Amino acid sequence: MLKSIAVMTSGGDSPGMNACARAVVRTALYEGVDVWGIRSGYHGLLEEDMFKMERKDVSDIIQRGGTFLGTARCKRWKTPEGRRLGYENLKKRGIEGLVVIGGDGSLRGASLLSKETGMPIVGLPGTIDNDVWGMDYTIGCDTAANTIVDAINKLRDTASAHRRVIVLEVMGRQCGWLALVSGISGGAEYILIPEEEYDLDEICKDMAEAYKKGKRYILMVVAEGAGSGTEIGKYVAEKTKLDTRVSVLGHIQRGGSPSVIDRVRASQLGEKAALAIISGMSDIVFGFAKGHVVAIDLHDAVNNKKKIDPDYMHLAKVLF
Ligand code: ADP
Repeated sequence: MLKSIAVMTSGGDSPGMNACARAVVRTALYEGVDVWGIRSGYHGLLEEDMFKMERKDVSDIIQRGGTFLGTARCKRWKTPEGRRLGYENLKKRGIEGLVVIGGDGSLRGASLLSKETGMPIVGLPGTIDNDVWGMDYTIGCDTAANTIVDAINKLRDTASAHRRVIVLEVMGRQCGWLALVSGISGGAEYILIPEEEYDLDEICKDMAEAYKKGKRYILMVVAEGAGSGTEIGKYVAEKTKLDTRVSVLGHIQRGGSPSVIDRVRASQLGEKAALAIISGMSDIVFGFAKGHVVAIDLHDAVNNKKKIDPDYMHLAKVLF
């Protein structure tokens, strides 16, 4: 049994990170284990910006987006010297294990720390992109998808009023999950994702035909990894001569009060991670797959590329 652990959030923030860190802290305290909070991710670890936490330090945060611990990107962590210093900063406080809540990059950094120093690590997937291999859910993806669907609903009103084509660019890095599920939920006519090739000329022809047959408006969701919404919108306008507008949703997708799903799942994952690290486990990431908690090998999680669910792709085509 470990006697003292630490938790941090790192990389891009996502709604539910607070609920997750809260669960890690309260589970550790419930088990009688000391728990440290590290501010600003790996940057804070190198700057020794950390504090021993009490129950009340995580009060009033479950409903908040962002992360009360702060997050950062840290170049120095990419060097072995940086990671060695991080290890020493943990060791000199008697911290015996680290829980990292973050995306792909943060988990990769955690995996290297464990490999080089033997520091026990448990990872938790905190990212709206839902791009971590071995799981079909990451903390924050549900809230972000709901934010996008809300935007699609509003864009539909104005698209319909003006008979416009609306192109909406959404986040997701190289993963099309956010675009696909929000496009399906919002009833978009076209969904462009990086995992699937598309022929824009063919789509433009299709659109023009549809308008001729009386279609009043068209919604197209573009994953950022599939191309620039602005460029695609410009191309569609030129090719089809249809009244086209582009909306790039941007950072609004990262914020907001987490959904019930994100709060509950983040809490469940936080509890599992705390129990695992306390009991001496290491090099795993907890996530959800098919509705159940799964433990994925950390090395596998960061070294494999997630594939998009073909059922979703098929559904999008059927419902078009
Ligand atoms: P995310 O965790 O959301 O994917 P980043 O990719 O920016 O965000 O990663 C967050 C931080 O994790 C980086 O600033 C860096 O400190 C660390 N990190 C990312 N990739 C690596 C890597 N290949 N090796 C070591 N550390 C990394």
